[in-house]
Amino acid sequence: MRRAPALLINTADIELWPGGLLRARSNADARALAQARWVLRRKRDGRYLAVATAHGVLPLVPRLMREDGIEAALDALDQQALAHRRSAVADSTLLPLSGLQQRLAQLDIDADGYGRPLWLRRSAARGWQRLQLAAAAEGVALDAISGYRSHAYQLGIFERKRARGLAVDDILQVNAAPGYSEHHSGFALDIGTPGEPPAEESFEHTAAFAWLQGNAGRFGFQLSYPRDNPHGIVYEPWHWCWRAGSPVG
Ligand SMILES: [Zn+2]
Repeated sequence: MRRAPALLINTADIELWPGGLLRARSNADARALAQARWVLRRKRDGRYLAVATAHGVLPLVPRLMREDGIEAALDALDQQALAHRRSAVADSTLLPLSGLQQRLAQLDIDADGYGRPLWLRRSAARGWQRLQLAAAAEGVALDAISGYRSHAYQLGIFERKRARGLAVDDILQVNAAPGYSEHHSGFALDIGTPGEPPAEESFEHTAAFAWLQGNAGRFGFQLSYPRDNPHGIVYEPWHWCWRAGSPVG
């Protein structure tokens, strides 16, 4: 079942409006609203604070992270995205599958993001650099496997796996549908360690994972999909996400 989108997400200080419902008050607002999936609006005076786009949160005010209630609003946004992703996993008809077969022939790469340049939002990248250095200082080697991925790139992962004969339902067990990956945010990072195959559950038995569990939080990173997570997403010990409002800015 495809659930109807919520019209408004209400938090104590900030409302979240779906893109396309609010009227722009300036050219700058208009440009931002044009790409907004959600608009964060200050309740007190109606000021637009930020828009959430496919590529992350775009502030419309200076010092967005100091706004009252911003963390609660961003948490609500995260929850909404996860609920959306969960419904996508449950309903594969949301996938743009038509025309896939025709595009398959054009694909000649067989790498799910490995060996490509790493892209992360600045705050997340800073946190990752500090985390990696701190781990190295304690003799733990960590590699970044995959950070930001565009929708097109995520679709490419699906296409390559379809080309190998995997069913859509099976792909959805391990890859989010295009548009629903936390990697689209630029805050998510897949982490590996030398000598270990990338993005495998066996990562949980490494010293690297033990170190992350004890220390990643200090650098703002959290495990997005622990074992038996409430989102029904497969356990991913390698997938970590930097959260706004985390201790390292
Ligand atoms: Zn990941």
